[in-house]
Amino acid sequence: MATEPTELDTHDVELERELSSLLDVERFPPPEGFRKRALLSDPKVYEEAEQDWQGWWAKQAEELHWFKKWDKVLDDSNPPFYKWFVGGQLNVSYNCLDRHVEAGRGDRVALNWLGEDGSERKLTYADLLADVERFANALKDLGIKKGDVVGIYLPMIPEVAVAMLACARIGAPHNVVFGGFAPEAVRERMEFAEAKVLITVDGASRKGTITPIKQAVDLVVGDLESLEHIIVIAAHGTPCEMRSGRDVWYHEIVAAADAKCPAEPMDAEDPLYILYTSGSTAKPKGILHTSGGYLTGVTATHRYVFDLHPDEDVFWCAADVGWVTGHSYIVYGPLANGATGVMYEGAPDYPHKGIWWEIIQRYGVTIFYTAPTAIRACIKWGAEYPRKFDLSSLRLLGTVGEPINPKAWLWYHKIIGAERCPIVDTWWQTETGQIMITPLPGITETKPGSATTPFPGVLADVVDEHEGKTIKEGQGLLVLKRPWPAMLRTLYRDDERFVETYFKRFGNTTYLVGDAARRDKDGYIWVIGRIDDVVNVSGHRLSTAEVESAIVAHESVAEAAVIGQSDELTGQAICAFVTLQGTIEGTTEIEEAIRETVAAHIGKFARPKRIIWSNDLPKTRSGKIMRRLLRDIAEGRALGDVTTLRDPAVVDMLGQAIATAPEED
Ligand code: ATP
Ligand code: MG
Repeated sequence: MATEPTELDTHDVELERELSSLLDVERFPPPEGFRKRALLSDPKVYEEAEQDWQGWWAKQAEELHWFKKWDKVLDDSNPPFYKWFVGGQLNVSYNCLDRHVEAGRGDRVALNWLGEDGSERKLTYADLLADVERFANALKDLGIKKGDVVGIYLPMIPEVAVAMLACARIGAPHNVVFGGFAPEAVRERMEFAEAKVLITVDGASRKGTITPIKQAVDLVVGDLESLEHIIVIAAHGTPCEMRSGRDVWYHEIVAAADAKCPAEPMDAEDPLYILYTSGSTAKPKGILHTSGGYLTGVTATHRYVFDLHPDEDVFWCAADVGWVTGHSYIVYGPLANGATGVMYEGAPDYPHKGIWWEIIQRYGVTIFYTAPTAIRACIKWGAEYPRKFDLSSLRLLGTVGEPINPKAWLWYHKIIGAERCPIVDTWWQTETGQIMITPLPGITETKPGSATTPFPGVLADVVDEHEGKTIKEGQGLLVLKRPWPAMLRTLYRDDERFVETYFKRFGNTTYLVGDAARRDKDGYIWVIGRIDDVVNVSGHRLSTAEVESAIVAHESVAEAAVIGQSDELTGQAICAFVTLQGTIEGTTEIEEAIRETVAAHIGKFARPKRIIWSNDLPKTRSGKIMRRLLRDIAEGRALGDVTTLRDPAVVDMLGQAIATAPEED
């Protein structure tokens, strides 16, 4: 195992210079070698999908195994309540497991799992199927039937995938709660969904410490009426109380269960899961996904966006399975495609800041998918960590979760991809279930910071906020004007909020995304942030992401969050929370230099009035900056919902910092 390097060269002047020179490159075409071998390399695929988009999705659905074929591709008789592959029957776990085993691919590794302590497990498709069948039977033995909601609150261990697939096998919708959430958040989600069972663990390992989980869960779920059983995985031998009649050990019920559990045929529109959004804008919403359309959407996008060659590739999505990214691109998409995947239990900086790159070297990862926030953390730690490992197996990189600032894109391109790997910047949401706006790596010429164009068959548009008229070139609201197979079907038990949130603005056939976007002269879409992340300085409408990107372009800056603060003179003024690289200290010189950088990139009016040094920013547990909290702090308002905040202490720290930060004259 690698050791921590002793020196941090965060002042990597040469690298800065190289990245700056790349900033002038407008487009990055697919490397010739990549294009030649790509599954899709002919731009005609866009036209083909456009001519008959329902037919295009039907063609994708045909790649799956159906017990009974559908009668109708799309039922759009009652928008916005769409139904896909009506009358069709399939089973998601059958498609992810049995199908591959039956085709003689049972020995292929489905999941390379690495524990935080260095322990390893390799699960083949046959192994995974055997585990899933037994656990599905164990759930049935506990009285779980089709339609019963099953809560899952687990760390990144293989059992999380087993549990999800076992639920899918018997038609019990799962409700995964990210392992980093506090037990109160679990309780809320179990109560709301009336979960019958909760699957959890005795203890979880995080940065070398074992935290008791079952014990903490017990303190809050005791009085939940619907909850009949808690299934506990003995992962670390952490002591916990087992309430008789309610609590059971995973290993015991699995050992007692039958080995064979045939996959239950499900209607295409039977629910597959409920998942709550991360909560960066409002109270979390219970997104409901169903079976046939969802699997079609994630399987097709996983194959084509990541150019998956299942016999050769090792695909690693470094998200947590508790987010939609993990659902769609750790579990369902990759397994349906018969891919070999990687799962890491630990944090990106434990046991050392190079662990991700060590994992890529160790498993020969060819496709790597992560979030801009993680890339920025790596930039802050320094390029010498990835440079210590052999990353030559990589051939494609991806990002998701936020707009990626060009500097981070270029760093990813140069340091991780060695200028050899295309980058797919994928825009999508918990609600969309599948990637929606993205390059196709063998076709699209990418531009750093743009998610480029819609996936074939998807109709996205940028429209003006009042009448919803198309804006050919310029900034407006992002909308989706056509249903797509993996779209959410409703908000769980709240059809009204579903219609209100997404379809009230422009009518029942236009889905309001909630993000602002710009379309450039080439038709490329630049998602610039949430609708409410727009600042108005003296009548200039600026996206916070644009200003942040300019600030981060300064060589000492690792991360920045920008908000608008009420200002007597200009209406709103820009207030920037800035995290510097490594151990650099904030000084008035750097402050001035940052203002100059912003002035040079955008204009003088965009210069931040206040710059607040902060070692950390308030983020959701999925790593997104919660600007609405920064706004509350800056305006001295009571804070909104903070239950999804990763580290509540950051809020107090920033409250004090802002009270004392000077203003620019
Ligand atoms: P909530 O809806 O509860 O506020 P959330 O929107 O953060 O939470 P997600 O569904 O996980 O929850 O995130 C989707 C959002 O993330 C998108 O609407 C967009 O704002 C942002 N996003 C995702 N991918 C990209 C990308 N490639 N480029 C720009 N923004 C992205
Ligand atoms: Mg959202």
